[in-house]
Amino acid sequence: MKTLQKNERLEGKVVDLTHEGHGVVKLDRYPIFVPNALINEIITFKVIKVKKNFAIGKLIEIKEPSSDRVEPPCVYYYKCGGCQLQHMTYQAQLNMKKEQVINLFHRKAGFKDTIIHDTVGMEHPWYYRNKTQVPVGKNQEGKIISGFYRQRSHDIIDMDECLIQDQLHQQVMNQIKAWFNELNISVYNEHKKQGLMRHVVVRTGHYSRELMVIFVTNGKKFKQSDLLVQKMVDAFPYITSIKHNINNTHSNVIMGSESYTLYGKDAIHDTLSDVTFKISDQSFYQINSIQTEKLYQRAIEYAELNGEDIVLDTYCGIGTIGLYMAPQAKHVYGVEVVSEAIEDAKQNATINQYENTTFVCGKAEEVILKWKAQGIKPDVVMVDPPRKGCDDTFLETLLELNPRKIVYISCNPSTQQRDAQHLAKQYKLTQITPVDMFPHTTHVETVAQFEHI
Ligand code: SAH
Repeated sequence: MKTLQKNERLEGKVVDLTHEGHGVVKLDRYPIFVPNALINEIITFKVIKVKKNFAIGKLIEIKEPSSDRVEPPCVYYYKCGGCQLQHMTYQAQLNMKKEQVINLFHRKAGFKDTIIHDTVGMEHPWYYRNKTQVPVGKNQEGKIISGFYRQRSHDIIDMDECLIQDQLHQQVMNQIKAWFNELNISVYNEHKKQGLMRHVVVRTGHYSRELMVIFVTNGKKFKQSDLLVQKMVDAFPYITSIKHNINNTHSNVIMGSESYTLYGKDAIHDTLSDVTFKISDQSFYQINSIQTEKLYQRAIEYAELNGEDIVLDTYCGIGTIGLYMAPQAKHVYGVEVVSEAIEDAKQNATINQYENTTFVCGKAEEVILKWKAQGIKPDVVMVDPPRKGCDDTFLETLLELNPRKIVYISCNPSTQQRDAQHLAKQYKLTQITPVDMFPHTTHVETVAQFEHI
C-alpha cells in the first residue's frame, strides 16, 4: 500500500461511521477518520495526521452528499464541542445509536440472541437540557464571555444561543453575562489559576419550571453577591434558589463540595409521572426529563414487578427509579455515594409518602455486601452506574444475591457490555433499548434486561 503523506489531498467513499460520528474512508484496510463526513458520501479530504494504524483527515468537499445530511441549525455547531451530530437527520442519529449497540453486543460480545430495539427518540429533539453549566472567561479585548468550550480545548466560544438547553437558561445566562460586564466581575483564568468566577450553573425543573442559579467561584469571598442577587430577583422574580458554590481546586471538576444558599430555597423540585423529586445543587438528576420518563417506564417494564418484590436501586441518585417502583414493590433499598443525594432521596420518599423504602449512603460495592450480610434477598436489582460501569466486587455479590431479574441502565454501553459478560454465567441478556437522552451528541443511553437462567 502506498504510504500517506501529511497534507495530501485524497478522494474517497465513506464506508463506516465511528461511535464519535466520524466518517471512515479506507485505503486497503487502513482507516482514515474524517469528522463531519457521513456514510456513503464521496468526499475529498486533506490528510492532517498520519499514525501507524490510522490517519485523520479534514473534510474539504462533499462530492456526493448522503441523504442523511442536513444543514446544522446551530451557528456555533462546527466550532462548539457540545454537539457532534447536527449535520445528520435525527432519524440517522437514532439509527447510528442503535447500530452502535448492535456492534457492541451482537458483534463484539457475542450476545447474538439479545433483542436490540429501535432507539427511543424525542418528538422535538431540541431545548431538552434541564441543566446548563457554562464556563466564564475573558476575550482578547477584555470583555467577559461565556459559552461552551471549543472541541477538544478549553477555549470558550462566546454564545448567545444554544439549541439543546432549556430556553429559559439562555435568557438567564445572557442577562448574567451582561451584569458581569457591567460590574466588571473578576473571572477565573485557568492558566494563571487566578480570578473569581469560574462557572455559572443553571438548573430547572422541566415540568415545575422551578429555577436554580449557582455561581461557582474560586475562593469564598464574593463581594458582589448581594448586588447580583438583587438584579437576579428583579429580573426573574419567580426564581426559586440562588446558590454560591466554592471550587478552590485547579481541576476540570465544575463544582466544589461547599455551597451556600444566597437567596430562596436550598433546592428545587420537579415532578416526573406523578412522583415529586427534590433536587439539590450537588445531586445528580437526569438532564433530559422527557426522555427520562420513557427510560424509567421501560426499566419498570423490564423489572416485571409483582407487588411483593424486594427491589434494590443501586447508584440511585435522589432515588428516582426506586421511588417510581415503590408502589409496585414490597420494599425498595437504595444506595448512592453522594450524601446530599441520599438526603434528597429520603425526603423524596417522605414527600411522596412511600414508607416501604430505605436509602443508604455509601459505595454500592460496599453497601451491597452489608445488605447480603443482613440477609436481604432481592427479587429485582436496578443498576445505574456512572460511565466507568460496575466494580467487580459489586457484580460478584450481585451474582451471589441471585435476584430473579436485573435491569441495568447505562450511559456507556461499552462498560455495560463488559459487565454483561460478567453476569452472563447466571443471567440471559434478553433485551436492550437505547433511549436517546442526548440528541445531537454521540452519547448513547441504554436499558438492558437480564433474566435468571
Ligand atoms: N439512578 C439515578 C442516578 C444515576 S447516575 C438516576 O437515574 O437519576 C449514577 C449515580 O451513581 C450518581 O448519582 C453517582 O453519584 C453515583 N455513584 C457513583 N459511583 C458510585 C458508587 N461507587 N456507589 C454508589 N453510587 C455511586
